[in-house]
Amino acid sequence: MTSAAVNRTVRELLELTAGYLDQKGVTSARLNAERLLADVLGLTRLELFCQHDRPVLAVEVARYRELVRRRAGGEPLQQILGETEFYGRPFKMEPGVFIPRPETERLVETCLKLLEPLRRGDRTPVAVEIGCGSGAIGVSLACELPRLQVHASDVNPAAVALMLRNARALGAGPRVHAIEGSRFDPLAASLRGQVDLLVSNPPYVRSADIAGLSVEVRDHDPVAALDGGPDGLKFYRAIASAMRDWLRPGGHVAVEIGDDQGVDVAAILAASGGLEVVVTQDYAGRDRVVTARVGEAEAADG
Ligand code: GLN
Repeated sequence: MTSAAVNRTVRELLELTAGYLDQKGVTSARLNAERLLADVLGLTRLELFCQHDRPVLAVEVARYRELVRRRAGGEPLQQILGETEFYGRPFKMEPGVFIPRPETERLVETCLKLLEPLRRGDRTPVAVEIGCGSGAIGVSLACELPRLQVHASDVNPAAVALMLRNARALGAGPRVHAIEGSRFDPLAASLRGQVDLLVSNPPYVRSADIAGLSVEVRDHDPVAALDGGPDGLKFYRAIASAMRDWLRPGGHVAVEIGDDQGVDVAAILAASGGLEVVVTQDYAGRDRVVTARVGEAEAADG
């Protein structure tokens, strides 16, 4: 109580912190300062604005300092807060699990369009996700399509556990099945030829480009979720060569790509029998999603 007189207000603390984070090279420094302080005080950002003159207690300042120090050191905000919003829902985040990017919402949107005809069909639609991470894509799809069954794999056991946790928290637990393992390896053989949608945001950064990524990405996203091999296309080749084994006739594949990979990924899918190959842009106008369909006859032959 004796320190009350020297306590800084919310406004003062935000000014100082925004300046500090900016100087440390953090983009959107003010927003970061606000989000972290709101978290420490247990407020929303809106509530924070309404309490600009509130004095911040010494214990709160100490806790805030620690979070600001982590952010200044390059730890992503989503990881510090332990949560991020994706496709309108809160997803728990954990160190060591890939943080979903806003542009990936475009992939979800594209998948929902592809699955729309199955919404009122007489059978249960099935999606497979390769490399599920926190489950942002697969769980969002399950939440949006109340009958969809999602089978997902990830090499990272922490990702598998996190996806299941997010699925439960968002009410899709019973329809989301995540298994540890590489690509298609852990999937039940009974899914072969039964899948309506094969979706993935695979690692697509060229190995040599990883060192040049921002600290937030390079030092905090798992490298296994980023590294797409020497040309960044390794996982697209794997997905393309397996897609006809898993998709049912007429089923769709939808993948996120790096903005300079549209032509290559379209060619890879087409070479493996993908039909109606389409490249879609994100909201920044960059190539971001490639989709294709497997043919009725081709898949039946396979
Ligand atoms: N979009 C990620 C990045 O920040 C890459 C994600 C991926 O490889 N799938 O570069």
